[in-house]
Amino acid sequence: MTKPRKCPKCATEIGVDEDICYACGENVPFNHPWYIMPLGGLIVLGLFWLLTDFDALIQYVTQSIPDK
Ligand SMILES: [Zn+2]
Repeated sequence: MTKPRKCPKCATEIGVDEDICYACGENVPFNHPWYIMPLGGLIVLGLFWLLTDFDALIQYVTQSIPDK
């Protein structure tokens, strides 16, 4: 999945889960795939869906709307 990376500054091989070169301290940021952001958003939405008490939420929203 992930190929070995090399430090752009000193060419030391860097572990796939390292984002700082241990030899020279150069910051080597990960290249995250494009789908990480929407995937993270989906996970957050899923957690929100699981953790939210929708009955109470609907009750709260309908109560806060003033009657006319
Ligand atoms: Zn380096």
